[in-house]
Amino acid sequence: MKVKSEIDFTIKDIIAHAKEYGFVYPSSEIYDGLQAVYDYGPYGAELKKNLKDLWWQAMIKLNENVVGLDAAIFMHPLTWKASGHVDSFNDPMIDNKDSKKRYRADVLIEDKAAELEADGKADEAQALVKEMGRLLDAEDLAGVKQLIIDNGIKCPISGTANWTDVRQFNLMFSTEVGSVSEDANKIYLRPETAQGIFVNFLNVQKTARMKVPFGIAQIGKAFRNEIVARQFIFRMREFEQMEMQFFIRPGEEKKWYEHWKAIRMKWHQALGIPAENLRFHDHDKLAHYADAAVDIEFKFPFGFKEVEGIHSRTDFDLGNHQELSKKKMQYFDPEINKNYVPFVIETSAGADRLFFMLLCNGYKEEEVGEGEKVKTRTYLKFHPALAPVKAAILPLVKKDGLPEIGRKIFDDLKYDLNLIYEDSGSIGKRYTRQDLIGTPFCIAVDYESKDDDSVTIRYRDTMEQERVKISDLKSKIEKEVSIKNIFDQL
Ligand code: ATP
Repeated sequence: MKVKSEIDFTIKDIIAHAKEYGFVYPSSEIYDGLQAVYDYGPYGAELKKNLKDLWWQAMIKLNENVVGLDAAIFMHPLTWKASGHVDSFNDPMIDNKDSKKRYRADVLIEDKAAELEADGKADEAQALVKEMGRLLDAEDLAGVKQLIIDNGIKCPISGTANWTDVRQFNLMFSTEVGSVSEDANKIYLRPETAQGIFVNFLNVQKTARMKVPFGIAQIGKAFRNEIVARQFIFRMREFEQMEMQFFIRPGEEKKWYEHWKAIRMKWHQALGIPAENLRFHDHDKLAHYADAAVDIEFKFPFGFKEVEGIHSRTDFDLGNHQELSKKKMQYFDPEINKNYVPFVIETSAGADRLFFMLLCNGYKEEEVGEGEKVKTRTYLKFHPALAPVKAAILPLVKKDGLPEIGRKIFDDLKYDLNLIYEDSGSIGKRYTRQDLIGTPFCIAVDYESKDDDSVTIRYRDTMEQERVKISDLKSKIEKEVSIKNIFDQL
């Protein structure tokens, strides 16, 4: 059996598969789509929901001191002043005058650095990224343009270096509340879920009687007007975040930063991602709120890219909200008899990027069969706890009492498991359809089932088959798909 290695298939294979088998569709496709916006189909919606549930439960059930929150997307506009997003949530953009294509200036430079590194010029690459960081920190946009020119960076489309000046572009979407369009009514679609947590810090601390250290977890939509949106659901304009802010005593940030770094890396591995396809990447240029920041990166078919950020945010957010709202954001710590504004460690994962990671990691093509009968089998290897459909009930034929047995199994299991029932078509084709959506177990009901009250389970990953008593099915499958299998590894 030959297994296609992860670099043999491309992102195109995955996008096509995701569309064809009901995972991800371009938004409003009948109108030719909307750039960087996507809809999740039946199996995609299930997979994403399972992923989000797992994250939520891992945060809340496994950590006694983490509680949940569901804050609104719209927030008071001063929130975004305090958070720094109005003034600094910008990306530097640059246009090529010949191709009329727009780029992120920092991405052009980082791509150049990656090229240098690939050519064995690691020192030059590092110096280039460092210089870019210095120029951006100093808000020297003319300097950034000069750096692009000096390094011979050309537009990949036109092949020229005929660049416009670099300009800052704010990534927040704005809209208006109420019927009168005045400036005072301008509000933003939140670019991150974190601020909903910060403004509710005291509400949660008091009403849930939390003691520092404690965390608040939230899952929700975020919106960014990304300059260059590409690579499918990797960079979207509307996406979902799973964020947890952990409030700590000032001075303890190093300890908790390391703690959450380790926990989050383990979590990704527990989903079934091999350790060698994950890595930490320390930030060269820190965001406006952070004193330390690291990304967890996954090896996508287009290279190692961020799926989650872990940031030490100090008291930046609570401090600024305190200043602007004039409301105290302090916590009285009875253990040390002191009032303080807590420091924060944030873990911030993108649900869509993790979904994409699961697709890329799970997509398998194998050659099966012998001689002339060799064919390619494609399947999605999801952890059973995450798989959109847990089992398919497949009576061999649609007669002779087999559908009745199948229906009875379906009815017994349907309250606990997401199932598919199908009793027509060849069994081989039905197995293939389940492989393509990543169903871990197929349950075939045959003529013998009538006599021995047993069925055959066919396993997705190995294609092995096993005879099992119908009365044992529920406990067997439930054990395999339980999220406890993932929790046990954390
Ligand atoms: P990037 O450098 O890729 O733009 P970022 O550093 O701005 O990401 P954060 O602000 O740290 O990202 O957001 C936390 C997480 O949210 C990211 O790790 C990613 O998983 C997700 N995320 C951010 N922007 C997007 C987007 N445009 N589309 C999908 N997911 C996103």
